[in-house]
Amino acid sequence: MHNAALRALALDWRYVALPLPPVLFEETARALPASGYRGVNVTIPHKEAALAVADTATPGAAAIGAANTLTYRDDGTIEAENTDAGGFLDALGESPRGRRALVLGAGGAARAVVWALREEGAEVAVWNRRSERAAALAAEFAVRQARSPLEAEEADLLVNATSVGLDPVTTVDEALVALDLGGLRAPAIAVDLVYGVAPTAFERWSRAAGARTVPGTEVLVAQGARSFALWTGRAAPVAAMRRALEESVPER
Ligand code: NAP
Repeated sequence: MHNAALRALALDWRYVALPLPPVLFEETARALPASGYRGVNVTIPHKEAALAVADTATPGAAAIGAANTLTYRDDGTIEAENTDAGGFLDALGESPRGRRALVLGAGGAARAVVWALREEGAEVAVWNRRSERAAALAAEFAVRQARSPLEAEEADLLVNATSVGLDPVTTVDEALVALDLGGLRAPAIAVDLVYGVAPTAFERWSRAAGARTVPGTEVLVAQGARSFALWTGRAAPVAAMRRALEESVPER
């Protein structure tokens, strides 16, 4: 996706994967600029370490407590951003102001989504399988803890920020049981953070139920586009990125 974007803008850059054990994260993150790197995307389990290694952080990354993007500035400093938050809003494609949103999950993705929705003026509730994690997240971000996912019946927007559906063999019934959504009428809008080579169980359910459905691949493209713009200073060629992603998962 990123290499397609670089090609589309005729930039002689490369986006490469660097598998790294946690013990080498800080040293490597600090050393990369000397090898010409302009930035990095960071994923589990390095997102908190990425925030810690940065000299400055955007308000979002600081509030979420994790970064998925580091940008190496010309003055030698490192800035941390969490583009999952803004990418989620971009993929949503409309302002959530005044909307009632129910976020399922209390992990890193849920933190980014809850923060983004609250910042944009949505009325946010959060549910998680382990309710104590939802309670802690709700308290930290000053949002409401939902008693049940069935509160989605009253919501305009339902977000799956759990990892349910990551396993591509997950059936719709299994996902509905795991998320305690059995019998629910779909809300107007459903966003799945999970993505894979085929439409996820949550995505299949929400589409079939008639919700405007934003798949995890759209969030993936949108968060990547924000990272790309930070590193290059150029608007990301989103269509080229989406096309590259679609071509890499021909089953979708
Ligand atoms: P995480 O920190 O590991 O959190 C996982 C969440 O899923 C927790 O709330 C966990 O609940 C819940 N969960 C896991 N298995 C469950 C089950 N069987 N039933 C009910 N709940 C379950 O992961 P994360 O970083 O937040 O990521 C979550 C998902 O979002 C991943 O699939 C990731 O790939 C995706 N993601 C996508 C994008 C994108 O650009 N599209 C960006 C970020 C993340 P407990 O607390 O009860 O364990």
